[in-house]
Amino acid sequence: MTPQTREQKMLSLAPRANVVFEINLNAVQANFQIISAVVGPYVRVAAVVKSDGYGLGLIEIARALVAAGCDLLFVGDLHEALLLRSSKIGAAVAVFCDEFTRLRQYYRSNRLIPVVNNCGELDAISASGEAQTYFLNVETGLSRVGLTFDDVRRRYLWGTFNRHPPSVVLSHLACGDRVADAMNVLQRNRFRAISDLLKPARHSLAASAGVWLGKSYHFDMVRVGSALYGLNNAGIQPNPLQPVVRLRAKILEVRNVRKGEAVGYGATFRTVRASRIAILGIGYKHGVPWACGNKISVRFAGYSAPLIGRMSMEYAVADATDVPEALCGPGVFAEMLGENFTVNDLAAAADVYPQDVLTRLGAGCTRRYLNASYPAGESRAGQPMQATDPTTPRSSREVASE
Ligand SMILES: *Cc1c(COP(=O)(O)O)cnc(C)c1O
Repeated sequence: MTPQTREQKMLSLAPRANVVFEINLNAVQANFQIISAVVGPYVRVAAVVKSDGYGLGLIEIARALVAAGCDLLFVGDLHEALLLRSSKIGAAVAVFCDEFTRLRQYYRSNRLIPVVNNCGELDAISASGEAQTYFLNVETGLSRVGLTFDDVRRRYLWGTFNRHPPSVVLSHLACGDRVADAMNVLQRNRFRAISDLLKPARHSLAASAGVWLGKSYHFDMVRVGSALYGLNNAGIQPNPLQPVVRLRAKILEVRNVRKGEAVGYGATFRTVRASRIAILGIGYKHGVPWACGNKISVRFAGYSAPLIGRMSMEYAVADATDVPEALCGPGVFAEMLGENFTVNDLAAAADVYPQDVLTRLGAGCTRRYLNASYPAGESRAGQPMQATDPTTPRSSREVASE
């Protein structure tokens, strides 16, 4: 770790300790191994670490995944790619979408792989005549970024791909988390039709949810993000993934209120009995969805306490009447997310999107890493994992650059 400045030291005396957001890096690694086992040894598992590692910390997550044997990382933009490079993360890095044509020099000098998303980018490679490693994104049903079948066919006829073959052709499923959705079959068929024109490039269609759709969706590579972070968006039962995050909030105050009192903004909750309520130091500024008010519970040891009333910016209120007093005094932490209640559970209860919750929590809470020392054992690439701990200086934790 870098030496602390005076300001950092001062701030560390007053840590933001009302909320503890823990990220279990061993669980991230375990999920990488679980997915690797599902797709088998002939399918590459690339990790998607965009949006600051889904809010969990780009560098910490990338380092844990590389130590677990991951050799290809996808980031959202060039900025994240350069952060990985400046942290000497030893993996290939592909950039989902950034101005490749204008910023090509940065890609070249940092050995970054652009995902080519439109004709302009592909034609710029072709016009330059220079060799360029790139992935080609093709549109099969998401109507987002990517070349259409007609775009690809035209350039196939021009001979573009003979002169500048993509190393990977990819597309993205719109409904991968709904196993029986006909969109999946449609997109797979379209993907095959396009990628037949682009052999011998490697092919990649599935993100996390697509992993569970079966072999015919795996092609040569899967690109997994949310599953690595413990999200089971396809609802596979029993859940094969390990939970990665744990969120706890401190009780600031406990108060007794009479029957019939209103709780919170809008008086959306009224006590139906004399109640003991716990005021928690957590709110939507920490990334907990505002829509959780009146919808979820927190836990004290084995006891559950429902959140009552609307969530405030920095407070939430739990009805602790049924929790033994000894378990929920001021200073005690209530668990909001953990093994018993996951991000998926919260997202379902509040009718919000799990990735949305995760990225907001990561941005809104101070992150704390658990198990940053990697387990002994063989990585996927056959390299022993490095035994590290978070306090080791950076240089000794780095994995050799490719
Ligand atoms: C975000 C993203 C992924 C990863 O999606 P998950 O569902 O989180 O695994 C894969 N491919 C593309 C193109 C993406 O944008």
